[in-house]
Amino acid sequence: MVQTLESLRAEVDAANLKILDALNERLRLVEAIRRIKEKSSSRLYSPEREAEMLDQLMLANRGPISADELRSLFKEIFKLSLDHMKADTRMQLHVHRAEGDEDRVYEVRGHRLGEGPQLIAGPCSVESVEQCELVAARLAALGVGFLRGGAFKPRTSPYSFQGLGEAGLKMLREVADRHDMAVVTEILDTRHFDLVERYTDVFQVGTRNMYNYELLKLLGQADRPVLLKRGFMATLEEFLLAAEYVAKEGNQRIVLCERGIRTHERWTRNTLDLSAIPLLRMATPFPVVVDISHGTGRTDIMVPMARAALAAGAQGLMVEVHPSPALALSDNAQQLDLEQVDAFYAAVFNGMSGSS
Ligand code: PEP
Ligand code: MN
Repeated sequence: MVQTLESLRAEVDAANLKILDALNERLRLVEAIRRIKEKSSSRLYSPEREAEMLDQLMLANRGPISADELRSLFKEIFKLSLDHMKADTRMQLHVHRAEGDEDRVYEVRGHRLGEGPQLIAGPCSVESVEQCELVAARLAALGVGFLRGGAFKPRTSPYSFQGLGEAGLKMLREVADRHDMAVVTEILDTRHFDLVERYTDVFQVGTRNMYNYELLKLLGQADRPVLLKRGFMATLEEFLLAAEYVAKEGNQRIVLCERGIRTHERWTRNTLDLSAIPLLRMATPFPVVVDISHGTGRTDIMVPMARAALAAGAQGLMVEVHPSPALALSDNAQQLDLEQVDAFYAAVFNGMSGSS
């Protein structure tokens, strides 16, 4: 019987469908294997098993497909299966945005975080009541509801100012109360939990502690929001998994903070990863806040970067503010002074719905 082009094409179409059926059947089997492996916590990828399957295929091959073609084709099929298994496990994270999930909004001392753009501002380090008061009064006049400030400072050098500890927490609380503001402050260590809890409204986890899983687990049992900063070397996947440590323990009030990552660039202190904003918002229902001070390390580009962050979907910004940045005990180059914060606020927020 003479085969026409049409009849050959019809056979190719039928062969394609058989391959498709076989691939889907293979994925179904792989999903069943994943469920078994998950129960026994075994790893998903097994190079030994892949080598064994390739050997079997080589022996069974009667051609015309060559050994090299066979190997590269099945490598792709194995990769597809592995990606599929991983995608399935990603779906199960607590932090993942489920279908129909609304954006989370947290009410903290009457200030709402997660809707409308919010500003979280204050000094890098708490240094004195006077310093906090000057900053808070100016911020409160702008309508800013969240006062930040570090009392426990994670410094690169052990010889740099380490923060005032409890005395600093007290100052921040006292000033925040006077201006009806919520306190956001960093917790460095599990041993400080009771102490920091006494004074703060939002626990901040700094970039260096994103991988401190014991701290994250403990904060997962806290009754107030956790502002988790992205590790400066962390991928977004690692960032989400860090948030998962908190969420898994029951605390779903998480704020994700992009604060710049380390790249080879030296004109900025860190490279602000704007693509993280829409990606995190798509992946999770949590508010995404961008720390413009640490994300740039310089005051002269804060306005355009803040606008860019909001345009990319950030629901909040963090900036450091100090009455005399040149005299600050930490991060001199990236703190706005009181006039600058007014100008920053006007340039970035005016024309938008209020920040508090
Ligand atoms: C801070 O916000 O005070 C701070 C130390 O930031 P990061 O952890 O992002 O360096
Ligand atoms: Mn700082």
